[in-house]
Amino acid sequence: MEAKLQELRSRLAEVDDLQSAAGLMYWDQATYMPPGGTEARARQLATLDRLAHEKFTNPAVGKLLEELRPYEERLPYGSDEASLIRVTRRLYEKAVKIPSSFVSLLARHGSVSYEVWTKVRPANNFAAVQPYLEKTVDLSRQLAEFFPGYEHVADPLIDFADYGLKASTVRGLFSELRAQLVPIVAAIADQPVADDSCLRTYFSEQKQLAFGREVIRSFGFDFERGRQDKTHHPFMTKFSLGDVRITTRVKEDNLSESLFSTMHEAGHALYEQGICRDYENTPLAGGTSASVHESQSRLWENLVGRSRSFWQYFYPRLRDVFPEQLGSVPLETFYRAINKVQRSLIRTDADEVTYNLHVMLRFDFELQLLEGRLAVRDLPEAWRERYKADLGIAPPDDRDGVLQDVHWYHGTVGGAFQGYTLGNILNAQFFEAATKAHPEIPAEIATGKFGTLHNWLKEQIYIHGSKYTTAELVQRVTGGPIRIGPYVRYLREKYGELYRL
Ligand code: ZN
Repeated sequence: MEAKLQELRSRLAEVDDLQSAAGLMYWDQATYMPPGGTEARARQLATLDRLAHEKFTNPAVGKLLEELRPYEERLPYGSDEASLIRVTRRLYEKAVKIPSSFVSLLARHGSVSYEVWTKVRPANNFAAVQPYLEKTVDLSRQLAEFFPGYEHVADPLIDFADYGLKASTVRGLFSELRAQLVPIVAAIADQPVADDSCLRTYFSEQKQLAFGREVIRSFGFDFERGRQDKTHHPFMTKFSLGDVRITTRVKEDNLSESLFSTMHEAGHALYEQGICRDYENTPLAGGTSASVHESQSRLWENLVGRSRSFWQYFYPRLRDVFPEQLGSVPLETFYRAINKVQRSLIRTDADEVTYNLHVMLRFDFELQLLEGRLAVRDLPEAWRERYKADLGIAPPDDRDGVLQDVHWYHGTVGGAFQGYTLGNILNAQFFEAATKAHPEIPAEIATGKFGTLHNWLKEQIYIHGSKYTTAELVQRVTGGPIRIGPYVRYLREKYGELYRL
């Protein structure tokens, strides 16, 4: 059995090496590659993806997994070996159900559709991308059909991002949350909009980057095992547990852009850097799901980075960096500026309170499109109506409406959005558990110390990598299932005080 496990490990290591090489190529494309490299890079990435897929779905892997079953059954569920076999089997069984011809078809359609989208969005021409999106919906349904026996056609697609999560569970959580959020947003909208002009003067790029680095170093981001570079759309990527990278984009007339995206991506990176080093080169060496990953980025960005206690310590330092710009701006004005709530049209620019309304309507549209209850041609109008109903404003055109997010024009329809809001729900649930275990955490944050919080997150969440599913992890860490209570309490407390609700 030891020999078989060793063989499985060495096969998985090759797959991981190929995937990491592809990751490095993608990172290079998004940071330093000259435009002339685009075509060859797409081909190189496709080759690496195909090789990794072929190696992983090799019947020899399936045979090893079968032979290891009795061994796995004798081990405790949470042991490293049993978890490695279990998680690998789950991924293998999914991967072999999708024919490789379909994988290439989907990838090819994705790149063509993306190309069209990049042209039609600035031109505000939804009609030109409509047939591509119709095909995407069709392919998404076909993809789901490789996993018959589902409860909802979106379930197999959600499963890729969050194993075991079902549309019905998400729908239940979202309708509860929406009922709580809509009145909070309405009450805030009745009040004057906070003044955030102090964030929009001139802030030199180099100073912004240096300050951001100081902040995430204090969070616990390890620059010996990571680095930060510039890109167009910030992301985090990992080539090994010793090399976890983040990217940011800087605007010199907007202080919050780079600072909060740096904290966000650092949150993703802290998760990956905190994974048990023994899992290196295996499928266990990664965050367990999109929602748990997003819970960590949002925790460091919002619950820590947009809190008053955080700025009690860091605002005097930020003022030292930008004395001319912020010298006469009181902490309270700055705190209100970075927590400004405003109904807006663009999801990625939305504040903590309204953000989830953007996400939940996209999730509902995905279900309706997959169910066939909504036709792609009716989507722009449905979008405007739903924005009016949920956010009180409607986009003047499709560019800032149904064409704004890349997700549906690159990947599949289904499973793309729920992780963002589940991440918000979970970040509050995890943070509440952390402060229950260590009531001194908020006071430590106010002195610029994050060790207790970071260590707790490491021990409870990061170290396990992909060993536990989202549901198992939430149960272990918080003693119950995913629930919206802590998040609603957090929003009410913070914004109730800010807006005297
Ligand atoms: Zn994120």
